[in-house]
Amino acid sequence: MTCKDADKLIPLFLEDDLDNRDLAQFLDHVEHCPECKEELTIQFLVRVGMQRLEDGNTFNLKYELDNLLKDAQRRLNFRKKLVLFSYGLEFAVVAMSAVTLFLAIILR
Ligand SMILES: [Zn+2]
Repeated sequence: MTCKDADKLIPLFLEDDLDNRDLAQFLDHVEHCPECKEELTIQFLVRVGMQRLEDGNTFNLKYELDNLLKDAQRRLNFRKKLVLFSYGLEFAVVAMSAVTLFLAIILR
């Protein structure tokens, strides 16, 4: 993923509107690219931080952003597991139908 791509995804990331693939690439890029991390920090501050301060709440930018990124990573891992699980389930269903079919044939 290029910086230009990552930059375009920042608003979507903040809206939690990325699919698994984009999210994985985005998190990976931001982790290794200080410029994009900084851009994300700024946009995060503008979007979330300002609102929070207006509401009179305290706001620890670094802490909140780290939390957001960790949370996104957790959600991503969970979703990946879910996908794997559904593949596994699909495989089990296919395997069972194969066995059923096999039994139906030999028991006839
Ligand atoms: Zn970058």
